[in-house]
Amino acid sequence: MKNFDASKRILVTGGAGFLGSHLCETLLSQGHEVICADNFYTGRRSNIVHLLPNPYFEVIRHDICFPLYVEVDEIYNLACPASPVHYQSDPVQTTKTSIHGAINMLGLAKRLKVRILQASTSEVYGDPEIHPQTEDYWGHVNPIGRRSCYDEGKRCAETLFFDYHHQTGLQIKVARIFNTYGPRMYPNDGRVVSNFIIQALTGQDITVYGDGSQTRSFCYVDDLIDGLIRLMNSPKEFTGPVNLGNPNELTIRELAEKVIEMTGSSSKINWEPLPTDDPVRRRPDITLAKKNLDWQPGMNLAKGLEKTIAYFREFYLNS
Ligand code: NAD
Ligand code: UDP
Repeated sequence: MKNFDASKRILVTGGAGFLGSHLCETLLSQGHEVICADNFYTGRRSNIVHLLPNPYFEVIRHDICFPLYVEVDEIYNLACPASPVHYQSDPVQTTKTSIHGAINMLGLAKRLKVRILQASTSEVYGDPEIHPQTEDYWGHVNPIGRRSCYDEGKRCAETLFFDYHHQTGLQIKVARIFNTYGPRMYPNDGRVVSNFIIQALTGQDITVYGDGSQTRSFCYVDDLIDGLIRLMNSPKEFTGPVNLGNPNELTIRELAEKVIEMTGSSSKINWEPLPTDDPVRRRPDITLAKKNLDWQPGMNLAKGLEKTIAYFREFYLNS
């Protein structure tokens, strides 16, 4: 049942992607109207097909590199390919999406005088020299490497958000999202959790890059979406940037072993070369999110992997 009193019309760019589709679903369940704008570059109709019958859900096929004219009360800007395989396949388009896309969405927010949230990333820290990463760390980023289109695009997008805020008083929210996983990850986009689960379920070797000692900290999608919505609804003075992620850090080798164990797979580990500029360690310091958003992740890795494995068993193996 729609709650007309509290209901807003909310634009989610990248709404057909992994995170965007979960965000659209949650916002609809809270009684809001949702407009999903997506060019389906890495998003899929199957992520949102279950939402299409909802009369308060609307999909626009649109590339945010071009201006968009809609009337909304809030904007979540998630549009951008997020996996290294996808963002590196057309790096110029990745940079355009981050920068032209941010300018267009900020222009829209400015005209409408509405809040806008940017899905930034832990990649703004690059290959970090401090550990765990706090928001006041400026990062260690290669400006001309294979990951730069994404890292520098997202860094410049943050600059644009803060310049619009300082110059025009626009209400902004910047979330630095750390590795997130869960159902609706794109099966072949090369991200580690989906890669390992699919390899384990299909009996292929698990491709661990390097010696597997690099670390990541994985956040389950439901926790992340809760964090994004809390951030959007936080007092206007709190702009971020704020880290959103799960501080539970593990090596990629440990992740591979866990996935093999949980799927009961006979897959072996196949050691492959480490991609260039692959960050060595990554773990969010979430003190700021705890204090300002009263947020911390609740899902432990085993439970989250169980749900993600179940999703890939049902929707990937049976399709
Ligand atoms: P995703 O690739 O599943 O979703 C991105 C969506 O944006 C897709 O639906 C894609 O079609 C759409 N898109 C791409 N370029 C577009 C354009 N020019 N115009 C309109 N739509 C466009 O990725 P995701 O994991 O859901 O990530 C969503 C956002 O969160 C991204 O901005 C990403 O940088 C950020 N993020 C994600 C993670 C993570 O671990 N998933 C971590 C850090 C940051
Ligand atoms: N990785 C791996 N095997 C894979 C895919 C990724 O060992 O099949 C490693 C990758 O080198 C990186 C980590 O897993 O160290 C996370 O990779 P992902 O692409 O998921 O995210 P990001 O590097 O952007 O954090």
